[in-house]
Amino acid sequence: MKELSKRTAGFTDSVIRRMTRISNQYGAINLSQGFPDFDPPKEITDRLKEIADSGPHQYALTWGAQNFREALAKKQEHFYGMKVDPDKELVVTCGSTEAMMAAMMSVCNPGDEVVIFSPFYENYGADTILSGAEPIYVPLVPPTFSFDADRLEAAMKRDKVKALILCNPSNPCGKVFTKEELELIASLAIKYDIYVITDEVYEHIVYEPFQHICIATLPGMRERTIVCNSLSKTYSITGWRLGYVMAPAEIADRVKKVHDFLTVGAAAPLMEAAVTGLCFDDSYYKGLQAHYTHMKELFTGGLDELGFTFTRPQGAYYVLMDISEYGYSDDLLFCEDLARKVGVGAVPGSSFFKEPENRYIRFHFAKKDDTLEAALDRLSDMKDKMKR
Ligand code: GLN
Repeated sequence: MKELSKRTAGFTDSVIRRMTRISNQYGAINLSQGFPDFDPPKEITDRLKEIADSGPHQYALTWGAQNFREALAKKQEHFYGMKVDPDKELVVTCGSTEAMMAAMMSVCNPGDEVVIFSPFYENYGADTILSGAEPIYVPLVPPTFSFDADRLEAAMKRDKVKALILCNPSNPCGKVFTKEELELIASLAIKYDIYVITDEVYEHIVYEPFQHICIATLPGMRERTIVCNSLSKTYSITGWRLGYVMAPAEIADRVKKVHDFLTVGAAAPLMEAAVTGLCFDDSYYKGLQAHYTHMKELFTGGLDELGFTFTRPQGAYYVLMDISEYGYSDDLLFCEDLARKVGVGAVPGSSFFKEPENRYIRFHFAKKDDTLEAALDRLSDMKDKMKR
């Protein structure tokens, strides 16, 4: 037999998705892979029902239906004051997962390096390797998840660095990058001529008083920023796999080619239905923020009452819980035991942190009150059941 690809040997299968399988196997409440168990907005699903009769049911344009891209461009201008050309600067993809991979394949050559803040959403490491590049990690240091400017510069000034991946608001640590931090990253990106690929899927899940800023809006950044985003989190439709890349025309043109050959296009009926969501007014986003604030308070309040140590998110919908007191050297084993003995699914921190000493597991709280209360009830036994 001929040798298999060396690139796919560089990483494991997704631990996040594996933990959903393990949670299902043990009948655990799945707080591992981040997705809601509540319904999407009714206006969107009602529209989907109409589309079952009216169509479209055939391919849309490969880089996305015209009305969908136009609605996206309007929304971007509304929230960020950015004028985006829906024909030249937007590519609709199958989730932000494809957006990120297509972006990476469009800018990286084999032998390039990519700077990634750690902890990081696990796809970035695999995407970097699949695009032929090498990841260079810069720590976001708990508990504040701040970074050392000199360490960042040392990474970004390396000859082979082509891009930096930012996740803002950040999965898994819940950091919302400040204007000062983004300005620093931007100044280094400009100084060393580096692309910034920013994953903004949690842009509308930000807790008071924190505010999300898109790095593309900073001076000199539009031309070097590739925004990867999706509708999954904003409209609670993770299974629809609707994402997009927003990038300068020259880069978007490359992304279009990669996307065309990878997937041909996102699902036409789903794009058509989702236009309804993209046209929602501000009250929808305020409601979403209030709903997530409620879920955050319910879950973190419950964890506080149970005496756990964990991170306080500024954005996104995750907490990292400190498990150092349980005496496990293997956090994957900890999460398997947690699903089996306690009945709650979590993701081991080692799938996010590059630093060898890691002492966290990740829970998400995008769940109905009943689900969160049942999970908290099960976690009330965790200290006894998980002690070795
Ligand atoms: N972003 C979500 C998480 O981190 C879902 C990941 C996925 O499987 N697409 O859990």
